[in-house]
Amino acid sequence: MMKMRFLMVLGLGGLLAGGSVFGVTAEGKKKLVLIAGKPSHPPMMHEFRAGSILLEQCLKGVPGLVVERHEMGWVTDEKTFADADAVVIYSDGGGKHPAVVDGHLETLKGLMAKGVGFGCMHYGVEVVADKAGAEFQKWLGGHYENAFSCNPIWEPKFESFPEHAVTRGVKPFQIQDEWYFNMRFRPAFGDGITAAKDGGEGFVPILVAVPSDATRDGPYVAPKGPYPHIQAEKGQPEAMMWTVERGDGGRGFGFTGGHFHLNWGNADFRKVVLNALVWVSGAEVPEGGVVSSVASGQLHENLDPKPEKKKVSVVVPRVFERRG
Ligand SMILES: [Zn+2]
Repeated sequence: MMKMRFLMVLGLGGLLAGGSVFGVTAEGKKKLVLIAGKPSHPPMMHEFRAGSILLEQCLKGVPGLVVERHEMGWVTDEKTFADADAVVIYSDGGGKHPAVVDGHLETLKGLMAKGVGFGCMHYGVEVVADKAGAEFQKWLGGHYENAFSCNPIWEPKFESFPEHAVTRGVKPFQIQDEWYFNMRFRPAFGDGITAAKDGGEGFVPILVAVPSDATRDGPYVAPKGPYPHIQAEKGQPEAMMWTVERGDGGRGFGFTGGHFHLNWGNADFRKVVLNALVWVSGAEVPEGGVVSSVASGQLHENLDPKPEKKKVSVVVPRVFERRG
C-alpha cells in the first residue's frame, strides 16, 4: 500500500506543484496526517503518542478515511503531505511548537493554500503571537496566547451542542481536564462563544461551558494567575473547542483538552474529537458520530518512557514519625 501511494505521489508530482490537486490517496480515501509531539510532562499527562495511537485505532472503521500517524513532532518525510487532506498536531506548543520550528510554518502555508485541513489539540493550540499568531487565526480561527488565555484544571459541563457534523451523537458530558480558555480569536469571531462569519469564513464554537468563579480565580497551571481580565468575565461562557471553515476550502479545529490521558476513556470526550478528525479531513462523519470503544487496559498501553522524578529523600527523625 505504501508503495502504491509513493508511486501516486511521484505521478502527481507535476500537478501537485501547481497546487491544484491534493487528497488523492491510492485508495481514493481522505488522508489525515496525525502528528504526536515529543514526550512531555509526568506519566499519564501529555501522552501524545499513546493518545494518537488510540485515536488512530478508533478511526479504523470509518469509511473513506485513512490515518497516517507520526511521532516526535513531525512527519518522517514531508513527501507524505502531497496527498494529505488534513494535518492535526497533538503536542506541546508555544515557542517550540512543531508547526513553527525548522521551517515547518512555510510547509504548512503551502498546504493551507491548497485547502488542506488543520487541527491542533491541547498545548498544540498555543503559539507565540508574533511567530504564528496570524497564521493560526487564519487556519484555526484562534490560538492560545500566553498571559491572555489561561489554563486552569477544571471540570466543565458541556450540556448542549450546536448542529454540526462534529457534534453528531455526542451526549452531554462533564470531565476534568486542563481546559484552556479565552483564546486569541480572530476579531470577527469575538469571544469565540457564538457562531460567526468573517467574509465567507465560518466559525462555530463546539464545546462551550461556563467556568465557575473559583476556576477564574485560579490557580491556572502556569503562570498561576489569576489574571484580572479572566476574573472580570465571571459568569460568562467560554469555548474549549471550535471549528472554522476557511475561504480556501480548508477546515480547521482547535481542542483545548487532552492533558490527562485517561480522559480518552470517556466516550463523549473521545467522540467529539474523533468526529473532528474525520470532519477536518473532509470525510463524512457517520450518522451518530464515530462509534468506538477503548478498554481500560488500552489506556495504559504505548505510554512514553518517562523516568520517575528523583524522589527528594527526606529523613524523618523517629520522634516526629511517632507524633499523630
Ligand atoms: Zn497540559
